[in-house]
Amino acid sequence: MDDFKTAEARARELRRELAHHNHRYYVLDSPEISDIQYDTLMRELQGLEEQHPSLQTPDSPTQRVGGKAADEFGQVVHRVPMLSLANLFEDEGLVEFDERVRKLLGQPAVTYVCEPKLDGLAIALRFEKGIFVQGATRGDGTTGEDVTGNLRTIRSLPMELFPLDGVKVPAVLEVRGEVFIRKADFQKLNEKREEEGEPLFANPRNAAAGSLRQLDPKETAARPLSVYLYECVPTEGVPAFKSHIEKLEYLKSLGLPINRYVRAEGIDGVRQAYDASLKGRHELPFEVDGMVVKVDDEDQRKRLGQVSKSPRWAVAYKFPPEEESTEVLDIGIQVGRTGALTPVAHLKPVKVGGVMVARATLHNEDELRRKDVRKGDTVFVRRAGDVIPEIVSTVLSKRPESSQPFEFPKHCPVCGAAAVKDEDGAVIRCTGASCPAQLVEKIRHFASRIAMDIEGLGDKLAAQLVATGTVKTFADLYALTKQKLLTLERMGDKSADNLLESLEHSKGTTQRRFLYALGIRHVGDATAKALAEGFPDVHQLFKASLEDISRVKDVGPVMAQVIHAFFQEPQNREAILALLNAGVSPAPPQVSTGGPFVGKTVVLTGSMTGMNRDQAKEEVERRGGKVAGSVSRKTDFVVAGDDAGSKLKKAQELGVRILDEQAFLQLLQTDARG
Ligand SMILES: [Zn+2]
Repeated sequence: MDDFKTAEARARELRRELAHHNHRYYVLDSPEISDIQYDTLMRELQGLEEQHPSLQTPDSPTQRVGGKAADEFGQVVHRVPMLSLANLFEDEGLVEFDERVRKLLGQPAVTYVCEPKLDGLAIALRFEKGIFVQGATRGDGTTGEDVTGNLRTIRSLPMELFPLDGVKVPAVLEVRGEVFIRKADFQKLNEKREEEGEPLFANPRNAAAGSLRQLDPKETAARPLSVYLYECVPTEGVPAFKSHIEKLEYLKSLGLPINRYVRAEGIDGVRQAYDASLKGRHELPFEVDGMVVKVDDEDQRKRLGQVSKSPRWAVAYKFPPEEESTEVLDIGIQVGRTGALTPVAHLKPVKVGGVMVARATLHNEDELRRKDVRKGDTVFVRRAGDVIPEIVSTVLSKRPESSQPFEFPKHCPVCGAAAVKDEDGAVIRCTGASCPAQLVEKIRHFASRIAMDIEGLGDKLAAQLVATGTVKTFADLYALTKQKLLTLERMGDKSADNLLESLEHSKGTTQRRFLYALGIRHVGDATAKALAEGFPDVHQLFKASLEDISRVKDVGPVMAQVIHAFFQEPQNREAILALLNAGVSPAPPQVSTGGPFVGKTVVLTGSMTGMNRDQAKEEVERRGGKVAGSVSRKTDFVVAGDDAGSKLKKAQELGVRILDEQAFLQLLQTDARG
């Protein structure tokens, strides 16, 4: 009982501490501890919860990804409807808005608050006694979908309010805000999808919306969402606010992440804020598509009220879009490495946001059908998330009379094999085993920088090698001769030599690069690294059972199945063996070559608060050290936790360097690999 009480108290303390550090990191953007120290605290809490399962509560930070997959979302009725803002586009609209507000209030000038308008998804959150209990999408404003489990995966959203000293946690708190993806996270997400051979997200908003509506919270957890809050519904225990700014500061004082804001005096103040915001829009870490203008005074807001589903006291002042119109010359189908068919619009070149654009992705069949883009259409193009050009809309009035909707092919346009929809229905793939289009992409991937790193083997050469029938498998690359290369168009003496040298060099690759280069679906660089650590020799993967593969860090059941099936497939085994026969010999993962633990023998004694013996051993081994059971002259360090006994004494006698837990953690940190 005593033991349980101690554990309970410690768990509470740890949760508070973790919440504090989350707050420092995500809300204040000024962390006090390193990631490794944070992980240590988290692991201690996990350990306690494993020992005492009754301590495991849904609001525990260990449970962010613990939610179960659902068949469908439940419904949530918003007690106070979620309004949507009216949009305005030009200064003229702003003048009208300000005039109407002043007239209705009978006031010569009004104080406004301006916030960046995030391009995300509106959500409503409910906290009871400070604990996050429910979150929902806006839906139609009256009824939304229950996405509580998915919202729990958002690290910047506290599971428990974290009030400043002297601020009382209200019995019930209902807040509203926006879920979005930061630009950097969006890019990383798309890079990962590209590595894994999955189609890319069109823009941060689509990525955020799609991620929040995943039925399996584990999927959502893999996508880095953020949240900002900006509104609060009157409930028991929540003070009556005089102004919007007071309300925002109150939310902040409860430990919630709030959007940035500026106060603006009258319409001139708003104009200034708008100009500054427009000028600085690309400097912000997230996409903004305008500025929200709100009346600051709460009493004035009540008097203004709402009209239909929009408040009269606020408006979204949109930025002029970074869009250009151009013509669709043709629509083609691109075949990816994993066979995914992606419709692509070929455009009359046009400059958008300073970059020349000649192609735009149409993503998939559904998107294409929804937008109904056709050959000959005049369309608006924009650069989404500052990366991939995207077609926003079609100008129907300019559509040629003879125009026909684009028919998505039932067969691969390159090899003619049947094109089949994925299980999840979003992607259509070519089923051809020897599809040349897939082969070109596979070779390009195989040769890419983080794969086999074969310099000089780019898109064009890969296409040439496949088209001429010179290369049908990866191994054929290693059978290339200078003579053969020189028969190719535009291949010079020097380039041929360089390519051959680069191929030769690539034979001494690493297991991680090799596994990544094979282009197994879902296996990006991170998974390849983990696989290489678990299976340093590729022959081990031929023998590995499904269970063996599932034991690899971060490999989920679906991924394990795909990987297992890949190595069981005779064609793939043959291709791999042919590579090995050609002289490719991937080196097993290297233990670190620098750092304080490399080649060192470490003895662990006593108990540590932050990690258990196994975890400490793993950390040392990951850094190239060895853990021994007894102290001798060969021992380099003794890590002495609490209640260390005879081993500590022996170390002192022999003059072996002794580290306490703190010093050990610090040393781990100086070599923070893994
Ligand atoms: Zn094909």
